[in-house]
Amino acid sequence: MYQGVLVDNFNAYSVPIGDLPVGKHEFEFEVNDEFFAHFEGSEVLSAAVRVCLDVEKSSEVSHLLFGMEGTATVECDRCLDELELPVEFDGELMVYLSTSPTVSKGEEEMEEDDTVFLLAGESNLNLAQYIYESICLSLPMQRVHLDDEHGNTTCNPEMVAKLKELQGEAQQIKEANSPWSKLKNL
Ligand SMILES: [Zn+2]
Repeated sequence: MYQGVLVDNFNAYSVPIGDLPVGKHEFEFEVNDEFFAHFEGSEVLSAAVRVCLDVEKSSEVSHLLFGMEGTATVECDRCLDELELPVEFDGELMVYLSTSPTVSKGEEEMEEDDTVFLLAGESNLNLAQYIYESICLSLPMQRVHLDDEHGNTTCNPEMVAKLKELQGEAQQIKEANSPWSKLKNL
C-alpha cells in the first residue's frame, strides 16, 4: 500500500484533499532535477516532467487521476553516458478520508497499491513519493542508447571500443582454455 509521506522538501507536491470541497479540481506539478536529488539512490540524474492531476472528490472518497509526461535522464547501461528517456505515465489513486465509516470497518481488506487512507486530522496528501515511484516505474528496464538508422550503436564510441577490446580478450582467454587449443598445439 502506498503511504503518504510528509517531507519538508516536498511541500509543493502536497494536495489538501481533506479541505477540498466536493467536486472536481485540477492541479499541476513540475518535476525537475532538484526533485530527484532528494531521493537517495535515485537512478534519475535529471528530469523535466509535467504532472497533471484531476481530483474528483465525494464525501467519502477522492478519485485522483494522474497524467505524467516529459523526459528523464539516466545512465546508459552499456556506455554509462547520459541517456534521455521519454516519461509517459497514467495512474490513479483512491484516497479515503478516515472520517468515512466504511474505512474504519474494512480497512485491512481494502488495502491496495492504489489506495490511500488519510488519517484523522490529516487533510494534506503529499504526492512526492507516488510521483517519484511512478516515474521510475515508467522507465524501461533496459536503458541503452538506441542504434542509428544504419544499425550502429549511438553509445559513447570510446566506451564501445573499450568494451570490444575487453570482449576480445575474454574470447582469447576462453579459446586458450578450451581443450581444442591444446590439440592445436600438438
Ligand atoms: Zn550508451
